[in-house]
Amino acid sequence: MQPARPRILIVEDEEALSVAVYDRLIAEGYQAEQATDGQTGFQLALTRRFDAVILDVMLPGKSGFDVCRDLRQNSVPTPVLMLTARGQLVDKVLGLKLGADDYLTKPFEMMELLARLEALLRRAHQSEPKGTTYRFGEGEVDFYRTEVKRGGAPVELSVKEFQLLQHFIEHRGVVLSRDELLDRVWGYDATPVTRTVDVHVSWLRQKLEADPAHPQFILTAHRRGYKFAG
Ligand code: CA
Repeated sequence: MQPARPRILIVEDEEALSVAVYDRLIAEGYQAEQATDGQTGFQLALTRRFDAVILDVMLPGKSGFDVCRDLRQNSVPTPVLMLTARGQLVDKVLGLKLGADDYLTKPFEMMELLARLEALLRRAHQSEPKGTTYRFGEGEVDFYRTEVKRGGAPVELSVKEFQLLQHFIEHRGVVLSRDELLDRVWGYDATPVTRTVDVHVSWLRQKLEADPAHPQFILTAHRRGYKFAG
């Protein structure tokens, strides 16, 4: 099942095209956000959750190829639909190699874009494996959809918050040092500091614990780190 109103990120520097796509997506019942350069698009896709990214290849600064590659290197699984210029077969091949899921050649009909997008979302959700939901207390984590609920209500987590929660759950009952969490969850990022872990743990507690000051699940292991007790 697809999400009720899929969230789409549009990374495109041609304003007229970006606006046309944005307006059409909204009219079709999607939620949409726009970025006009690669770096901004990359940051948005890295820190917030989207159901798909529409990604132009030729962008100021960071190219669509670089954005796609860096997202995959950061374990962001969001489906990517690349927009390539007419006849640039090499672009398509390279795009798919770097982790894009599909491509569309400019200029395109809006109907074609919508069809590709729908297919992309359908494929992403059809391949959902069974038994990927984990429950703790009032919390519920759907690993495939990367969705979290508390008391049945959706909880918005950033990509890093989700990855941290996943690491906790996969290692429940085990004391995890801040250094290990930094290595495993932030490994690829430039210069995370130890405090990063504490800040994210605090955010997770605020979002998932009934009483964040007295957590039941994300516990502090005195002087050693943290432990998930789900
Ligand atoms: Ca462009």
